[in-house]
Amino acid sequence: MKVIRVSEQGFCNGVRRALSLVEKAITENSEGKQIYILGDIINNRFVSEQFKKKGVITISSNNQSRLEMVKSVSKDSIVILTAHGVSPEVLNYLKNNKIEYIDASCLFVIDVHNRITKHLDQDFEIIYIGKHNHPESEGVLGINRRKIHIVTNVEDVRNLKVKSQNILIDTQTTLSNFYTKPIIDEIFIKYPEAILASGVCDATTKRQEALINEIKGDLCIVVGDVRSSNANELLKIGLNYMPTYLINSIEEIKKEWLDGVKVITLTSAASTPSILTDEIYEYLINYNT
Ligand code: SF4
Repeated sequence: MKVIRVSEQGFCNGVRRALSLVEKAITENSEGKQIYILGDIINNRFVSEQFKKKGVITISSNNQSRLEMVKSVSKDSIVILTAHGVSPEVLNYLKNNKIEYIDASCLFVIDVHNRITKHLDQDFEIIYIGKHNHPESEGVLGINRRKIHIVTNVEDVRNLKVKSQNILIDTQTTLSNFYTKPIIDEIFIKYPEAILASGVCDATTKRQEALINEIKGDLCIVVGDVRSSNANELLKIGLNYMPTYLINSIEEIKKEWLDGVKVITLTSAASTPSILTDEIYEYLINYNT
């Protein structure tokens, strides 16, 4: 089987930085404090399991906000904030309670926070294109729940009521232009005076563009976690061209997917360790149809 590996894929700088900060915290933890990660450090279960083996507790719950999570840690522990960023409430809780913390928020996410805060200070309201219940959106919405309006689709825009004449459109960093374009178009129909600032980061854009330019063959496989926003965007892009599946391990590959397939395009999300993609690559190139 021929397997084409897309040229831009795998860990981005934000993920690398977050992981190295966790490793550093483990190495420098001379007092033996309990280290907690507030949510999965990146959206990949494989990575969280590796840190668990080193004694790091990942607080992971779909039902709890980051603020609820941080309130469950003991005050003499070390808390690591994930690449997705957190709301000011979480930071204030940590500071007020003098809890040691390490901020692994990606610099692209911090840029979005800073831009939104600056515009709120100038009396803007924000239309934020993002996904509900995603940690990055949670952090952004926590800046100001009254003046930041999250929209996930065109219908949300139609139902939106923004009072201010000053409107900034901003986006979650891991979306795609395919996803955001119709929503942005609808916002401009309703609020032509709005200003657009796309938060989609370079790493996300490069991975999407590379897939569009290089996708070939009969089947596309995206290696990534089902909770990863940028993995899901790569999946959607692949589906525009051919049958495409999002998987996190060899065990998830179904033999019927490979029937009659001669060429596969293989890519992976910004939160996918290359060891997972390498294993899947080896499996596929040695697969006899
Ligand atoms: S995908 Fe983009 S925003 Fe997310 S961690 Fe990587 S560089 Fe940062």
